Amino acid sequence: MEIAIIAHDGKKVEMVKFLEEFKDFFLQDHIKLIATGTTGNKVENAGFKVQRYLSGPIGGDAQIAGRVAEGKCKMVLFFRDPLEKHPHEPDVLMLLRICDVHNVPLASNPASAKLLIKGVSLVNTEIKPI
Ligand code: PGA
Repeated sequence: MEIAIIAHDGKKVEMVKFLEEFKDFFLQDHIKLIATGTTGNKVENAGFKVQRYLSGPIGGDAQIAGRVAEGKCKMVLFFRDPLEKHPHEPDVLMLLRICDVHNVPLASNPASAKLLIKGVSLVNTEIKPI
């Protein structure tokens, strides 16, 4: 299962804490992580394998949207910083829209990301989520 992880600069520390909290989940063989450039660096430094794309502002979000559109990426965990301006906001909105177009689960904050991962874990162990 391919999962994209993206974090705006103000949320990268929180993103790494999140990965560490759910490391047993993310280290499973069938989980493939992909990320935008700088996020991917942090993910790697935290000890996870990840396929890195371009940095968000130069097209990374658009590349990940492409993988969602092609049916390759099955979930997007996007740690957005709503209190900062981002030059690539159009790309971010495009990624959110593409997730909706293809009905791909998308978390835009850590609380939602946590619920998605817990939900997938429950499904994997055949216990029905609430
Ligand atoms: P980054 O991009 O991982 O290269 O910082 C994330 C983003 O801002 O969309």
